[in-house]
Amino acid sequence: MDRISHWIDGKVVESTSGRSAAVFNPATGVQTGALDLASVDEVDKAVAAAKAAFPAWRATSLSKRAEVMFRLRELVDANRKEIAALLTAEHGKVLSDSLGEVARGLENIEFACGIPQLIKGDYSEQAASGIDVYSIRQPLGVVAGVTPFNFPAMVPMWMFANALACGNTFVLKPSEKDPSVNMFVAELLAQAGLPDGCYNIVQGDKVAVNRLLEHEDIAALSFVGSTPIAKHIYETGTKNGKRVQALGGAKNHMLVLSDADVDMAADAAIGAGYGSAGERCMAISVVLAADSIADELVAKIAERIPGVQVGPGTEAGNEMGPLITADHRDKVRGYIDNAPGEGASLVVDGREDVASEGFFLNPTLLDNVTPDMACYQDEIFGPVLSVVRVSGYQEGIDTINASPFANGTAIFTRDGGAARQFQFDVEVGMVGINVPVPVPVSYYSFGGWKSSLFGDTHIYGPEGVNFYTQAKVITSRWPDPSTSTIDLGFPETR
Ligand code: NAD
Repeated sequence: MDRISHWIDGKVVESTSGRSAAVFNPATGVQTGALDLASVDEVDKAVAAAKAAFPAWRATSLSKRAEVMFRLRELVDANRKEIAALLTAEHGKVLSDSLGEVARGLENIEFACGIPQLIKGDYSEQAASGIDVYSIRQPLGVVAGVTPFNFPAMVPMWMFANALACGNTFVLKPSEKDPSVNMFVAELLAQAGLPDGCYNIVQGDKVAVNRLLEHEDIAALSFVGSTPIAKHIYETGTKNGKRVQALGGAKNHMLVLSDADVDMAADAAIGAGYGSAGERCMAISVVLAADSIADELVAKIAERIPGVQVGPGTEAGNEMGPLITADHRDKVRGYIDNAPGEGASLVVDGREDVASEGFFLNPTLLDNVTPDMACYQDEIFGPVLSVVRVSGYQEGIDTINASPFANGTAIFTRDGGAARQFQFDVEVGMVGINVPVPVPVSYYSFGGWKSSLFGDTHIYGPEGVNFYTQAKVITSRWPDPSTSTIDLGFPETR
């Protein structure tokens, strides 16, 4: 069994906390790793290493920092298969999906390669007579990232690529459920030429997170995870004077209007609902079907479900793997158990014909779901698609806007006017028009609204660069000392 430890100051550091957690292969249900859980003292060591590395790293030239990112880009590219295999082994997602995760993470490293251009300031010559004004952006210091289980490689890349390129040093606390991949990426960062101490990993649970939240040397913290924890992180971190962005959970709706191509909408619902077993914060979990096409759409989704190949992610041809843990599988199953009692119709029952080993559940389709039901209100985070029938556009948009979650949404229609109105009306951070999973490309930024994001700044892209830097404005003049006088008046520009 593998022991998974910390990465501090450029090397593997074994914990002496005496606490550890089991890591499983979700496709077999067998424990494959024992994860060290950090003590407060070990978190402090990682932060101290990052603090010590910061002065030299922030003074490193932009060209050199970009070069490290370019090298990392090459190394991640060359090791896609190895990274994907680590993802599948501990998360369970199928290999093609793991490769997709690596590709989308890599795009964030590619974005960070442009740091010399991204971090440029402004310059105004002659703002007043003989006076120039300019702005620069400087790194914050030691910044931390706390990440969820569902994208164990990509979400850290959302954070550390920009954070490091901007000149900060970084401490990551990955999910305790699938932690190994980040140890591999840490080795790649070292090979890319990142100096020791700039990137550190503390493995652990809330003991480590709560220490990061209160540590006086942590300037900022990025969090991605569930809504209750995101709220706790935002409130505690900001109370302790830190800059915090905390991305939370989701319940993403796909509105299918009566003029939509129903086959295309059914294909999209299958991919977006059951891809990665529904364990994506941008998964579609609710289909809002216009009454006039609802019967046809439900039938077409149902007829496609038996074609979804469920099985171990390592086996070619499989399209959907297991859930992350036995507990999570049982929680998802509980929503299916309860849905008929609440009045939902169980069209396809994913509890049937489930593999005997591993944490599998098959795709489930619920119809006639209404917003008062638990299966509608809660983020299930599993392969369960709920169909809510609506009279048309207005009831659809009202339903979406009444949800406390507002991460992603999509509309399926052939009517450009309706799509444009949707983009205008909908109170959600990321919107797809005939695109079911509208994850922004790396040169835009990612983030929801309402209880899907606490804080002002979306993650990665231009907003990521802003989050990891602070602006400084300089007013400068080089007068002839012989002209110097005393003037107590307020400085004027004209
Ligand atoms: P989680 O909230 O349980 O855990 C996220 C991180 O917080 C982990 O590193 C975990 O160790 C830590 N944590 C858990 N409990 C804590 C506590 N009490 N105090 C301090 N830290 C704690 O989330 P998860 O189950 O790992 O991931 C799934 C969730 O993440 C879903 O809700 C999903 O929607 C969300 N998610 C959101 C986005 C987004 O961009 N909005 C992206 C991916 C995942």
